[in-house]
Amino acid sequence: MGKETKCRFCRSTELEQFLDLGFTPPSDSFLTKRQLDEPESYFPLRVCICKNCGHMQLDYTVPGDILYCRNYPYDNSTSKSFRNHFIEMSRHVCSKFNLKHGSLVIDVGSNVGVLLSGFKEQGMKVLGVDPASNLAQKANKRGVETIPKFFNSGLANEILKEKGKASVITATNVFAHVPEIGDFVESIKLLLEDEGVFIFEVPYSLILIQDMLYDTIYHEHLGYISVKPIVPFFKRHGMDVFDIEMVQTHGGSLRVFAGKEGKRKISAVVKEYVEKEEKAKLHSIETLRKFALGVKKHRQELMSMLNDIKRQGKGIVGVGAPAKGNTLLNYCKIDNDILDYITERAETKIGLYTPGTHIHIVPDQKLMEDKPDYALLLSWNLADEIIKNLGDYKKQGGKFIIPMPHPRVV
Ligand SMILES: [Zn+2]
Repeated sequence: MGKETKCRFCRSTELEQFLDLGFTPPSDSFLTKRQLDEPESYFPLRVCICKNCGHMQLDYTVPGDILYCRNYPYDNSTSKSFRNHFIEMSRHVCSKFNLKHGSLVIDVGSNVGVLLSGFKEQGMKVLGVDPASNLAQKANKRGVETIPKFFNSGLANEILKEKGKASVITATNVFAHVPEIGDFVESIKLLLEDEGVFIFEVPYSLILIQDMLYDTIYHEHLGYISVKPIVPFFKRHGMDVFDIEMVQTHGGSLRVFAGKEGKRKISAVVKEYVEKEEKAKLHSIETLRKFALGVKKHRQELMSMLNDIKRQGKGIVGVGAPAKGNTLLNYCKIDNDILDYITERAETKIGLYTPGTHIHIVPDQKLMEDKPDYALLLSWNLADEIIKNLGDYKKQGGKFIIPMPHPRVV
């Protein structure tokens, strides 16, 4: 924990910083009214690249018990797009690997069990693991057995004894969060059948860099994944990355398939991704420094747009309070002087305040009651779904600001 001096993938000490987003509070540490009067913890948010293997990562690890507290507020069942995505994923995986009825599927970081309920519908045995006890409880209630713990070698051994080996292990938006990633992959390998498949989804750093999606950088995301460094990383742990697909979540994510070494034919696609990254010079420090300059420019553009609107005496509110929204708010210093409030669907966040910027989070309905002039979309990755849901607001003259990749009004 704390400042890292070694690459999490290859243990090289050759880390070079290219982006500094300042000190910010953890993105999911929403505050109660009472906590507004107490000091907040801020941690460095800096990204570096390993000059040995090319893995991009934060150089500071915030302890897990600070990041993933008992009431982790992110419930992925509230978004229809995410629900559909996970149901589609479970069907796709069952047919791609021709899974037999009753095969064991384990999901690490299973949230409220949406993905696993998809596998269950397909006739699989399922088991979830998620350290947020409030989410695990919800999952258990909907009939998806879920262990409320961090996944590590200790827990993997316990599961092995009780349930045996798994045909499939999934981890969606978890792989980039794990500090002890070597131990994590060893634990996955221990639990996998010889022909088993580990499937993980992570935002793709090529898209992060090309589309300037810097608000997806926050303390939970320790790694920014590209294909070139993960291939040798898995190899060192006796596994092959054998296939890759692109999916549309979080602006563009990789779905990576890994199996035990030599067990599966490696698709030509893997090499194609590495070549694509080389062609884009993704791992070169010049590319990354240019990206960092672009981030500064984006802040200037967005702030001049918001300040112009405020100067005209118009009102702006935020829509959606995702973790990444807090990177944008804190880095650009958009606080409760600029946004009157933020509307949100997830009940776990309503009534709370954003970390660092102290903007009140209120129910979605308030947007239609107040009809403010502008609504800044903090969940820009769900822009289509949100704008459709809030069609009445737009019909009555409301305007949406989509902040990424370039600030624009629609
Ligand atoms: Zn490295």
